[in-house]
Amino acid sequence: MNDHFYNEVLIDHNLHPQHLHELPCATCSHAGLNPSCGDEITLHLQLENGIVQSGSYTGVGCAISQASADIMLDLIIGRQKEDALHLAELFKKMIAGEISDDELDELEEAGAFQNVSKMPARVKCAVLAWKTLELLLHENG
Ligand code: ZN
Repeated sequence: MNDHFYNEVLIDHNLHPQHLHELPCATCSHAGLNPSCGDEITLHLQLENGIVQSGSYTGVGCAISQASADIMLDLIIGRQKEDALHLAELFKKMIAGEISDDELDELEEAGAFQNVSKMPARVKCAVLAWKTLELLLHENG
């Protein structure tokens, strides 16, 4: 992944977010806060039979936190809860700079955030949505 791809992904998901809206059919929600940047997102999921049937986020934040939430939802909607948690593990591994090429492939577009592992000040922005997802799924088994 190069810087150009990273910037394109970031801009695209901020100009045209797919999942930034309320979710009337949500079965659970969880708020996430990153005080160091001022990012506040609330994640909404419709969980049924252990599958993420639908999802969205609301709130405000910097370009990285918003794009990360939007891309995360692209990846996890339609998946089993266990798969979503697995992807969250991989995302954190990537940000920690410990991911393999095969694992990076699994993250699809979220792999664009690999550069953030070299930007310590932005790490909390990038992982906010994923950490909120983990909390939400652990609370709603
Ligand atoms: Zn931020």
